[in-house]
Amino acid sequence: MKRYAGNQYSMQNPLTQYPQPEFPAQHQPEPGLDSKMRPEPDHGEASYVGFGRLKGRKALITGADSGIGRATAIAYAREGADIVLNYLPEEESDAQEVVALITAEGRRAIALPGDLKSEAFCKSLVGNAVEALGGLDILVNVAGKQIAQQHISELSSEQFDHTFKTNVYALFWLCKAAVAHMPPGATIINTASIQSYDPSATLLDYASTKAAIVAFTKALASQVIDQGIRVNAVAPGPIWTVLQPTDGQPAEKIPTFGAHVPMKRPGQPAECAPLYVLLASQESSYITGEVFGVTGGNPLP
Ligand code: NAD
Ligand code: MG
Repeated sequence: MKRYAGNQYSMQNPLTQYPQPEFPAQHQPEPGLDSKMRPEPDHGEASYVGFGRLKGRKALITGADSGIGRATAIAYAREGADIVLNYLPEEESDAQEVVALITAEGRRAIALPGDLKSEAFCKSLVGNAVEALGGLDILVNVAGKQIAQQHISELSSEQFDHTFKTNVYALFWLCKAAVAHMPPGATIINTASIQSYDPSATLLDYASTKAAIVAFTKALASQVIDQGIRVNAVAPGPIWTVLQPTDGQPAEKIPTFGAHVPMKRPGQPAECAPLYVLLASQESSYITGEVFGVTGGNPLP
């Protein structure tokens, strides 16, 4: 379906494994479509090979239509999981591509679009996911909002509120609803960022939410371990996704996106997915309350 075929398991130089800057200038209105990005991101469509590491697991993934969420959904399906996908209604065409890829693996894909800024929707999403899947073993919180603003004077209360609702409140509402249904061995994986630790001046609200996600992950992990539930977070650096050309970065930064990290290129969603698989599987049984970077060489503190 897409290029980047068959390179996930062959040894190669990570510096040249994927496209390097400069990239074409591009802009889309939020939330944007992955299918319109140039070059197209790699979500592992042609390269991710599963080994049954999540056989029979029941997973709910937010932001599953595109970017890191899509790569995670493809990997989970190939590892044997059934999946409920959440995304915004405007993203239906991206989401249907993911549904087709999951179904092609013989796994179940249940699309439940809706706006996570609503507490009522978050509660019903978890309830409907539990009903559709017959339980819930894995909650992967990937959905996020990022809009760059040059100065605090240009950051509206509405944007501040929407960024916190999407990135932090939804996480709270989804986790709260999910833990009530989760059996011992279940896992929650949140999506933090290098911005949690090293905030850009233009991402005042976003970086603050990502710092909150780190504290939330650690506190929740220590709460729910008595139920046998593990909670961890992935903290990506610059990843080539539609979050960026939808005003996630100032437009002039898109052509050189990722050039500043030691690997001198952005990461691809496919390079994040294996960590989401590890943290969902029993292989990570002694790991909870941790945050793992996927940063191209800018280590987390
Ligand atoms: P993306 O745009 O592909 O994914 C973000 C998704 O969030 C969208 O597809 C959308 O479905 C979902 N979303 C946004 N607002 C929503 C709402 N109100 N209700 C329901 N869904 C909503 O981009 P991505 O880069 O794959 O982002 C995934 C996660 O990774 C985000 O949490 C982001 O903060 C994080 N992250 C991304 C990068 C990066 O460089 N791309 C770096 C660090 C962290
Ligand atoms: Mg999307």
